[in-house]
Amino acid sequence: NKQFYLCERPEGVVSSKAVPQREHIIEAIQDGELIIENQYISIDPAIRGWMRDEPSYMPPIELGSVIRSSTVGKVVASCHPDYQVGDRVYGLSGWETYSVSNGFFLNKIPDDSPYPENYYLSIMGAVGLTAYFAITDRSGLKSGETLLMSAAAGAVGSIGGQIAKQMGCRVVGIAGSDEKCGWLKTIGFDDTINYKTTEDMTAAIARACPEGVDVYFDNVGGEILDAALLNLNSHARVLFCGSIASYNATEPVPGPYNWWQILARSAEVRGFLISDYLAQFPEAALTIGQWLDEGKLEFREEIVDGFDNCLSAFNRLFDGSNNGKMLVKV
Ligand code: NDP
Repeated sequence: NKQFYLCERPEGVVSSKAVPQREHIIEAIQDGELIIENQYISIDPAIRGWMRDEPSYMPPIELGSVIRSSTVGKVVASCHPDYQVGDRVYGLSGWETYSVSNGFFLNKIPDDSPYPENYYLSIMGAVGLTAYFAITDRSGLKSGETLLMSAAAGAVGSIGGQIAKQMGCRVVGIAGSDEKCGWLKTIGFDDTINYKTTEDMTAAIARACPEGVDVYFDNVGGEILDAALLNLNSHARVLFCGSIASYNATEPVPGPYNWWQILARSAEVRGFLISDYLAQFPEAALTIGQWLDEGKLEFREEIVDGFDNCLSAFNRLFDGSNNGKMLVKV
């Protein structure tokens, strides 16, 4: 069994010194445990946060432990009453070729599922469901309003924008290349801004959102958040889903500088956490499946071949060279 583990807490971009590989032998499993042969590993920005020793919604990854992440795989041994050899499962395990699980945070892929396994880490998994619940529930977005989405060509952003379009909203996406912006237009975004080639983001947002911003879906933080704050409508909502611009920061990150706009616009900041919606996952997955079948949702996955590439694939999330949901095929 190969594993990537946390050897030291990283500073900045994660190096192979902080997260090296090792061989690990699974000696035996106990009653109530099973062994999963991982087929796909989910590569998520949130993992960077779990490497920090800071209070959060989950305990930090302990030094010496395998890097935590979602995976999908096959049960190859089981002493667990609910799982049999051959079951296809997805859930929280780690960057490792085989995982031992006691069933915590583990789900079975239905035998009659028409979708490939990898979908359970992308569109039918946490990122698809994040987009779904954040837009349809937490953001308070209503038909006719304007949604501004950052990291819009990414996994969460691209799905969230399409759901908002279906609700009858104007949707503007911010992304880091002309190719990504072009793709967003093909999947229904009304307008796009390439933040890497735009000097004045505040003015560009004002042009793309002539009626102001009702919901800013923040995946990024930093300068884009500041520019969005200057374009909020009265009673706007800032949905705080992520802050990837600062995940690799080595110093405390100042700002947002335009925080006063929250007061000036009687706006609300709403934190979003996908784990608040666990009980509603099966129902939402059915809806997403239906939209997929009806051709109403498009999404991109970037599947990197080879377990050894987990760390390099992870670091690509932070320079934007990924195209859609990043997965590693073991
Ligand atoms: P993505 O597929 O969107 O990949 C990350 C993207 O972020 C990159 O492709 C890049 O796109 C963009 N990015 C990276 N650095 C910067 C930067 N400095 N400034 C602006 N954009 C940047 O990842 P996900 O869809 O998986 O995650 C998106 C966000 O959602 C993350 O912040 C993540 O933490 C959050 N999240 C939160 C959840 C929750 O429950 N709160 C659950 C799941 C995800 P580009 O080329 O456009 O720069």
